[in-house]
Amino acid sequence: MSAWGKELVLVATIFVIVAVLGSLTGTFIPLLFILLFSLLSWQVVQINRFERWISNGGRGKYPKAKGIWEDIYYHVYIIKKSEKKRKKKLAKIIDQFRKSTDALPDAAVVLGKHDEIEWANNAAKTVLGIQATDRGQRIPNLIRFPIFVRYLKEGHFNESIIIPSPTNNHLTLAVRVVSYGAGLRLLLAQDVTQLRKMEQMRKDFVANVSHELRTPLTVLRGYLETLQDLDEPQLPLLSHSFQQMLEQTDRMQHLVDDLLLLSNLETQPKKTHCVDVPVLLNKICKETEKLPPYTGRVELTVSTSVRLYGDENELRSAFSNLLGNALKYSPVNSVVKIQWRMTESNGILDVIDQGEGIAETEIPRITERFYRVDIKRSEKIAGTGLGLAIVKHVLLRHDAHLHIVSELHRGSTFSCYFPLSRLC
Ligand code: ADP
Repeated sequence: MSAWGKELVLVATIFVIVAVLGSLTGTFIPLLFILLFSLLSWQVVQINRFERWISNGGRGKYPKAKGIWEDIYYHVYIIKKSEKKRKKKLAKIIDQFRKSTDALPDAAVVLGKHDEIEWANNAAKTVLGIQATDRGQRIPNLIRFPIFVRYLKEGHFNESIIIPSPTNNHLTLAVRVVSYGAGLRLLLAQDVTQLRKMEQMRKDFVANVSHELRTPLTVLRGYLETLQDLDEPQLPLLSHSFQQMLEQTDRMQHLVDDLLLLSNLETQPKKTHCVDVPVLLNKICKETEKLPPYTGRVELTVSTSVRLYGDENELRSAFSNLLGNALKYSPVNSVVKIQWRMTESNGILDVIDQGEGIAETEIPRITERFYRVDIKRSEKIAGTGLGLAIVKHVLLRHDAHLHIVSELHRGSTFSCYFPLSRLC
């Protein structure tokens, strides 16, 4: 029988005894009153004991009790015990988490709603100079680099920023913020000094090699042209070899020029001014028209006179590459359209061809360096595989992006989207 059942049976039995005794002696009402008073007093005493035990934190084993009160004590005791176990487990997890984050080589800082420091690991002390006493301080008051303050304020956290370490300016940090929970943010700072050094070495290497290769290639080309132009009759094998050598020297020269251009895009600052896009496009189209296989194929439409704030030489390279590709990768008698237009949110340059098109799976890869679609087809058409990498870089430097729509055997449209902030 349940504790409640026993309790009810006991009360009912006492009531029956009192009722029998009361009716025999004619004192039912006073006896009932005494019974109710006794029951009430007993319950008050039990409540008082319980209150004293619980207000002391319910520590240790519960006091001895009878009836339903023993059950109440027992249930509260069990709840408290499991709560204690849960707390212990949680504390262990937190401790393990702290130890593991302290062992992390990257700095981690938990920021509150107002960018105040709530917690930081050991690496944050070393590379960001955050001390235990800085808890509650706003992080922009401690790390004052304008780029960092702006990054926190603007909240575009899908990208990371590069800053020097506030404790050691020989260290370079990549800082990223991740939002989580209700207004909380985790700031992560990774030491990228070695990575940046290697990246710089790669850039310097490519720039130096391309630069150094230019002169020998020019000399080679000069001698080959002289030999080819000799009046003396040549063996057919020799003239064929000269032709092949000239073609390969040309290819190498293009490769070196493209590599040098790419490396300049990575290292040199832009020379920015308001570029007259219609004029620039007219020049590019006229130059292309002069090349015999492309004559009469370009159709230019300028539907806006808006200009573009940027580097004219870089823009010329990007637009020429797009136009060159459209002409190269489409039939000799097809038209290539180039148009400069404006929408509510962008200035757009489209280059549209009716060529072979590009398979959907290849589109994400064609802007990679040296990537050429369909080797057999590309082998026949001269190219370095660097043209679209140059386009992508130039657009990136102009806050713009490239959008490619293409259908196999139908043609391709390459569109450069420039933001309004770049229009002038
Ligand atoms: P490449 O020097 O080979 O032209 P790009 O970087 O300019 O190098 O282009 C990469 C590849 O993308 C090309 O090899 C070609 O296969 C493909 N491609 C580029 N533009 C077009 C186009 N308009 N139509 C079809 N394929 C194209």
